[in-house]
Amino acid sequence: MSRWARALTSHKFQIGNRLFNEGVLLPKAPTFDELKDFTLKSYVKLLQYLTHIYKIVPFCEIPRKNIPYLILRHDIDISLAAALKMAWIERNLGVRSTYFVLFSGKSYNVLEGENVNILRQISKLGHEIGLHYHVSQYRSYGRDVKKTLKMEIQLLEHLLGRKVYSIARHGPWDRDPFATIKQYINANHPRFRRNVFVHDSARAWTPLQGLLKALNDPPRRVQLLTHPENWQEEKISREALLERFFQDAEKKNKAHKRQLKKIWQTDPSVIEYEAFIEKGEFTQIHNQKIKSNPKMQSKLKRSLNYYGKIFRWYMINTSFGWNIHRLREIVQSKFGPTP
Ligand SMILES: [Zn+2]
Repeated sequence: MSRWARALTSHKFQIGNRLFNEGVLLPKAPTFDELKDFTLKSYVKLLQYLTHIYKIVPFCEIPRKNIPYLILRHDIDISLAAALKMAWIERNLGVRSTYFVLFSGKSYNVLEGENVNILRQISKLGHEIGLHYHVSQYRSYGRDVKKTLKMEIQLLEHLLGRKVYSIARHGPWDRDPFATIKQYINANHPRFRRNVFVHDSARAWTPLQGLLKALNDPPRRVQLLTHPENWQEEKISREALLERFFQDAEKKNKAHKRQLKKIWQTDPSVIEYEAFIEKGEFTQIHNQKIKSNPKMQSKLKRSLNYYGKIFRWYMINTSFGWNIHRLREIVQSKFGPTP
């Protein structure tokens, strides 16, 4: 077979330094140097290149036809704001993907109003929202893990007002009780593991050969997982980025503390309460009220008599132990209801 014939039978070929895919001139692939910097600019370049080779799809829309496709997946581990930014970039490139959201992580609370709002915006941009489940957390609840998964999905569906089809596991790849679950599309299902699977966890392209293959000799099926927070406007080191996440979290915590402190210090009921305690007015007023109110006096007397009788009786008959329900039963049958 001639060089040309060989070139034309594969769906991607090179003439000189120009790359073609099924006869169409490809945009330049980003270099590895660009991709290891994790800038949004190189992410755009990567997607622009991949859209010419693959149909890029979210999990819920995997084509049935035998065409080359790339499933684009995002696990939102740290930042919903970064996810929204990425969702906009993809929307502008005409790309749709699946964003997996984590309920049981430490970095964000899905149930905060502003976060639900972000998820709805991502969904409105045409992307799929799936559940990023956390098996070891589920196990720590001591409940049925399948039921926990189902309930998180139901909650997510309720918040989004649309059906959730896809799930993906967060954390290590040990035994996954949902890997072959029938009701949902699981990104970790063995059928997807047969594809080339490349991810950028902790800003390390894994497996590196997988990435290079997707760029230079594209296989027909790829699952590409990127974590939105990994990709930033400017070049920033892994360590500095981590530092930035925690500085942001600290800022948020400080704002929360200020808000709480304001309530704790300025709430009228707190001020009133503290004033009473400080001046000893509360005890005075309480005693005065009782002294000046014959009804309260007799109630207090009745109450003291009642509990006094019980105490005396209890000191003599302690054989039933400390069972509070039994004590209540005996007391009520013997002394009548509380005055
Ligand atoms: Zn994760």
